[in-house]
Amino acid sequence: MDTMKILHYYSTKREFIPNKIFCLGQNYINHIKEMKAEIPTTPVIFMKPPSAIITNGEPIILPGISNNVHHEVELVVAIGKNGKNIPIENASSYIAGYAVGLDMTLRDVQAAAKKNGLPWTIAKGFDTSAPISDILPPSMVADPHNCTLECKVNNELRQRGSTRDMIFSIDKIIAYLSTIFTLETGDLIFTGTPEGVGPVHAGDTICAELVGLISITHPVSAN
Ligand code: MG
Repeated sequence: MDTMKILHYYSTKREFIPNKIFCLGQNYINHIKEMKAEIPTTPVIFMKPPSAIITNGEPIILPGISNNVHHEVELVVAIGKNGKNIPIENASSYIAGYAVGLDMTLRDVQAAAKKNGLPWTIAKGFDTSAPISDILPPSMVADPHNCTLECKVNNELRQRGSTRDMIFSIDKIIAYLSTIFTLETGDLIFTGTPEGVGPVHAGDTICAELVGLISITHPVSAN
């Protein structure tokens, strides 16, 4: 799979299914504070299944098991070649591009899982939990650690943050993940959300933006 195919995947729909979608939890200090969590010493990693992906304009479907579904706007990194044990100084050469995504989260289901020491799979991996934009080549993103992320619900600003506030940098995340998992072409990494997460309801419209670069807009529907 060449890089161009990846760049076009999300607009041509399902031409290429990524093998893995990694996500970081607790990668921004102010989000950790609002979640009353501890600052992690190693990256907090969870995964979503590829079936969670939707593309610009498709509806986010609220599962019936949750009464509190939250938006989390995030910078997403797409991997451009296979690698294992990638040295941090080479990490950027494994990046195919960047996108804006939403890590949709069943906050009540996640809170129950945390309380009981259970996995986050349902809270984070349900169908439509991974809206993502087309992928921009690295040449279009001058500095991935100096991008502004915004999330609006019904045109009201809910989240606005800078990727400069990430705890673990993209290079560190790639190097760390590759010590455990073989990174494969097309794999995606959701790099965590800044503060301001909050609930959405059926009938809402969510807009997530990598400001000045690309945005996605999704209606929210009941199941
Ligand atoms: Mg997240």
